[in-house]
Amino acid sequence: MAHLVRSSKTFYGGVHPAEYKGASEHLPIEILPLPHKVVLPLSQHLGAPSAPCVKVSDTVKTGQKIADAAGFISVPLHASITGTVTAIGAFPHPNGRRMEAIVIEGNGTDEKEPAMSMHDPLSLDNSPLKQAVIAAGIVGLGGAAFPTHVKLSPPKEKTLDLLIINGCECEPYLTCDNRIMIEQADRIVEGIRLLKKILCLKKAVVGIENNKPEAAQSLAKASAADPEISVIVIKTKYPQGGEKQLIKSLTGREVPPPPALPMDAGVVVHNVATCIAVRDAVVDGTPCYQRVLTVSGDAIATPKNLLVRNGTLLSDIIAFCGGTAPNLKKVVIGGPMMGIAAVTIDVPVLKATSGLLFLSEKCAISYAESSCIRCGSCVRACPMGLAPSTLCGLVKKRRWDSLKEEGALECIECGSCAYSCPARIPLVQYIKIGKAELNARARKK
Ligand code: SF4
Ligand code: SF4
Repeated sequence: MAHLVRSSKTFYGGVHPAEYKGASEHLPIEILPLPHKVVLPLSQHLGAPSAPCVKVSDTVKTGQKIADAAGFISVPLHASITGTVTAIGAFPHPNGRRMEAIVIEGNGTDEKEPAMSMHDPLSLDNSPLKQAVIAAGIVGLGGAAFPTHVKLSPPKEKTLDLLIINGCECEPYLTCDNRIMIEQADRIVEGIRLLKKILCLKKAVVGIENNKPEAAQSLAKASAADPEISVIVIKTKYPQGGEKQLIKSLTGREVPPPPALPMDAGVVVHNVATCIAVRDAVVDGTPCYQRVLTVSGDAIATPKNLLVRNGTLLSDIIAFCGGTAPNLKKVVIGGPMMGIAAVTIDVPVLKATSGLLFLSEKCAISYAESSCIRCGSCVRACPMGLAPSTLCGLVKKRRWDSLKEEGALECIECGSCAYSCPARIPLVQYIKIGKAELNARARKK
C-alpha cells in the first residue's frame, strides 16, 4: 500500500481536547427501525429553503421528491419514509426556532420511488453525473450542509488540480465517519472516483487523523488499484477537519481570506460521507434521505453509530438507545466544539446532523465568565490567526467597523479560543453575535 503515507505537517494553532471516542468507535453501524413519523424542515442546508411540491394528504414513497430546490444555492428534499403528508407548517428546528417543515406519517412499509440507476458511470459524460448529484439533494454531510453540486461547478477561471477528501472527524465523541471508513471504504472510493470525474481532476488525497488507523488501512486497501488516490495520515489536532486547516496540512497551501474559497488554492474538499451520498445518487439513483450519525455521551444508556432516516425525531433515537440517565443536563446536536444545544428532543435530525450527545452535569459543566487576564491563549489557539480576545472586546463595545477590519468574518466558529480561555469567556459566542450583526448590515446595503 505505497499510497498510505504519514505526514507531520500541520496548520497553525488548534487545540487538543479529550477525544471521548472510546464509547462508540468500535461499534458497528446499526440501522434505526423505520420511524412512525418524520419532520423534514425545508431549510436544512446553506442557501434558500426548498419549496414544497406536495400538499397535505398526498401519499409519498421513500425517495420521492417532496420539495424543489429554490435557486442555485439550494437543494431538493425527499421523503425519507413511505406514508402520507399530514402537515406542512412551522415546527421546532434544531436551530432553536420554528421553521417550515413537511411532516410524513408512515404506513409501516418502505416502498421506494423507482430510481434511475447508472451502469458504468465512469464511462459517461460529466453532465448526467452532476445532474444525478443535483437531483439527489446532496449537501456536505460533514456538518457544513453546503449544497454539494455548487462545489462541483467551479467557475471557468478557477484552475483546480486536487480533490481533498476529509476523513478527519476531529470533533470529540463523533465516530460515524470512522465507522463508514472502516465498513464502507469501497463505496467511499467509488464516490471519490465519481467526484474526480465530475471535476475533471486526476488526483485525490484522503486526509485522516492518526487516531483512526483502522480507517486509514481500510481506505488505503480499497483505493489500492487507483494510483491517483492517496491516503495521508495526519496529526490528531482540532480543528484538523476545517477546510482551510486540512488544505494547509495536506498541501502546505494557504486559502486567501474571504471571499476567496478553497478553489482559489486549486482545491475542492468533500467529506467521506458525502462521497457515499454521491456514489449512491449516481450508481443507484438513491437521493439523500438517510445518514449515519453517532449517539454518545455519558447520559445515554447505549451509545451507537446509527443509520437514520432524515427527519427522525431525537425522541425516537433516544428510545432506541435505551433512554437517557436521570442526571442528563444537556443535549448537543453535532460535536461538543461546534454543535448546538437542543432546547427540546422533539426536533428532527437533518441531512448534516453528524452526532447527538447526551451529557450529564459532570460533562456539561457551565462556568461563570471572569475578566480577561491577557494571557494570549486564545490567540495561540486560533487556527485562523485572529485575536479572539480583541474581537470579543469589539463586539461588547459594538464597534462593528473595527470588528470587520480585525477579520471577524474569517472566524470559522471552531471554538478553539473559548476552549483554551482560562477566564471561561465564551469567546466564540460573542464572535458569532458580531458576525451575525456584520452580515445583517451587509444585507441592508
Ligand atoms: S476566533 Fe473563530 S476561528 Fe479563531 S479560535 Fe475562535 S472560533 Fe476558532
Ligand atoms: S484566553 Fe481568555 S483570558 Fe486569555 S487573552 Fe484570551 S480572552 Fe483573555
